[in-house]
Amino acid sequence: MLRGPFCSKDWIGAIPEFEKAKIVMIGVGFDGTCCNFTGSRFAPPAVRLASWALEDYSPVFDKTLDETAFFDAGDIELSPANVKTSLAAIKANAKDIYDCGKKYFGIGGEHSVTYPAVEACFEKYPDLAVIQFDAHTDLRNGYLDEQFSHASVMYNIGNLIGFENIKQIGIRSGLKEEFELAKEHNTLVERTEQLDTIKNKKIFVTVDVDVLSVGEMPATGTPEAGGMTFNELVDWFKYLKSMNFDIVGADVVELTPERDFTGASTAVCAKIIRELLMIM
Ligand code: MN
Ligand code: MN
Repeated sequence: MLRGPFCSKDWIGAIPEFEKAKIVMIGVGFDGTCCNFTGSRFAPPAVRLASWALEDYSPVFDKTLDETAFFDAGDIELSPANVKTSLAAIKANAKDIYDCGKKYFGIGGEHSVTYPAVEACFEKYPDLAVIQFDAHTDLRNGYLDEQFSHASVMYNIGNLIGFENIKQIGIRSGLKEEFELAKEHNTLVERTEQLDTIKNKKIFVTVDVDVLSVGEMPATGTPEAGGMTFNELVDWFKYLKSMNFDIVGADVVELTPERDFTGASTAVCAKIIRELLMIM
């Protein structure tokens, strides 16, 4: 035996036993439907490495990562170009997590990875709502001949769980038709009380990191001018926690680490993940 000590291969603060975990983190690095900057498939290992520059204590939530009891399952092997088999593999693993009575926490990948996770979550929790943080509506009915494009993820989720069960925060880009669909179903949220209608449902939170301002999050697949600060995003997390929203699944998507020339975007993404774990 070598004497080490060796660096951990897991996320900082992850517990070593799957059986004891309440949350299972899984890397879902798929970017096969990306229509602008690719590379988010490399995010799971990059953000895991960056996690070691975080502290395991969140002063905002007065909680340490080991109290969240999450297990780092590693990254699923996915076909970079095959949407169907990749999304099926994500769904199968998410289903395993829910069948074990645990919560899914995905690290993308681009936003197409959220649909199969929500499918598995919805099979377990039929009274489900999805809260999306994103610059983009993602409400296209298919894009570039791909129904399961990242640009269509919320459209497909809306058809699955009902558009009235979707709440979208930070949206600032989309087609006129997408905004009309959003207005028709009251999905766009600017104030906390607009979340009241889903307060008693199970919640899946999906964070597309391009919701942040391009200044704080330049390394993302589809940068969009405008956007909130990291602190504003955490204020939404604080609200969800303070109102006891029952979050049963989550993911963080669309970081492109190869475009992160300073390492700052990856560090911001790791901290989003840490704070999101704190409210589950
Ligand atoms: Mn998105
Ligand atoms: Mn987006």
